[in-house]
Amino acid sequence: LPAPAGASAWVTVDAAAMRDNVAALVRRAAPAEVMAVVKGDAYGHGLLTAARAALAGGAARLGVAQLEEALALRAGGVDAPVLTWIFPPQADLGRALDADVELTVTSRWTLEAVLAAARDRGRAARAQVKVDTGLGRGGVLEDWPETVAALAAAVADGALEVTGTWSHFAWADAPQHPTVRAQQERFVEAVAQLERAGVDPGVRHLANSAATLTNPAAHFDLVRPGLAVYGLSPVPDLGRPADFGLREAMRVTARLTTVKRARAGQGVSYGHEYTTDRDTVLGLVPMGYADGVPRHAGNAGPLLVGGRVHRVAGRVCMDQLVLDLGPDFAGAAGDEVVLLGRGADGEPTAQDWAEAAGTINYEIVTRMGPRLPRVVV
Ligand code: PLP
Repeated sequence: LPAPAGASAWVTVDAAAMRDNVAALVRRAAPAEVMAVVKGDAYGHGLLTAARAALAGGAARLGVAQLEEALALRAGGVDAPVLTWIFPPQADLGRALDADVELTVTSRWTLEAVLAAARDRGRAARAQVKVDTGLGRGGVLEDWPETVAALAAAVADGALEVTGTWSHFAWADAPQHPTVRAQQERFVEAVAQLERAGVDPGVRHLANSAATLTNPAAHFDLVRPGLAVYGLSPVPDLGRPADFGLREAMRVTARLTTVKRARAGQGVSYGHEYTTDRDTVLGLVPMGYADGVPRHAGNAGPLLVGGRVHRVAGRVCMDQLVLDLGPDFAGAAGDEVVLLGRGADGEPTAQDWAEAAGTINYEIVTRMGPRLPRVVV
């Protein structure tokens, strides 16, 4: 795989893997369409790279959290339908309308703001509406009946077209959890309330990656996967990426900067949380928590060197971590180290790092830092 000349460490992003993952999700979700979620710089994979790959794989739409991310897609020349759901009262929603970005009504103030921005532009608003069916996060919760009435009034006035109605699960990664069924039922009821009030709900969507892969009853008109686009499993207890026809799109590689002998009893890294138990060879990997390597993975995170997996020795520092490569290590400074890649090829995975650090695979890939050059293959 190509490596940037002279770089200490870098991220390789496999655009074909993202395209193929989306194609697999399109087949699985049909006849529902796929909205690929590319927020958070596409979970660390690069917003525009991922957006283009997802569209090439058959995604009908793109979803991002923040309005600024949606505008970045437009600035990058992406003209597919884009939905956004996070913006503050200070946001200039006229920019969203001008850029043909779909906004989400999540409260009474967002409804008023969307209507005002459209009025200002002399046209009707087109927006989706989000109902909180039980996550207790974004979306209209207790004042849904009043919101339905306000939406119906705006639609009757010709001021608004509701283009979609959606919600988000709290426990999609545990498909048997009782809240999953309860949220689906609440969602169906919320849609019915809109219809009874004379509002066409537009496209209905509820499923993230976990529900796309494990719960066809939640597919409705559109599914909204993020993690699976990047080839990671949202339900590691139920299956690995390959079990769902997915492959990891991110590979993180570094070059050893130092290889040196150490005696038995040598304390390693800050606080000496690791001590060599024999004469050995230490290797320095030029990646640390400034690059997104979780500090909580000290003495635990796996790296592949010379065909063998070694665990981080001692604490992860800001710019470096240390490996105890064993007395017989035959490699040298400059050798490649794989921090994460494809489990099917025997490389450490984002899931391995998540377990080592007490977090989720989402956080591992999303936090790979801007200091690491991205190479798209
Ligand atoms: N929809 C919404 C509202 C989200 O916040 C997210 C991400 O958390 C997604 C869809 C995609 O979720 P996942 O990455 O689990 O597929």
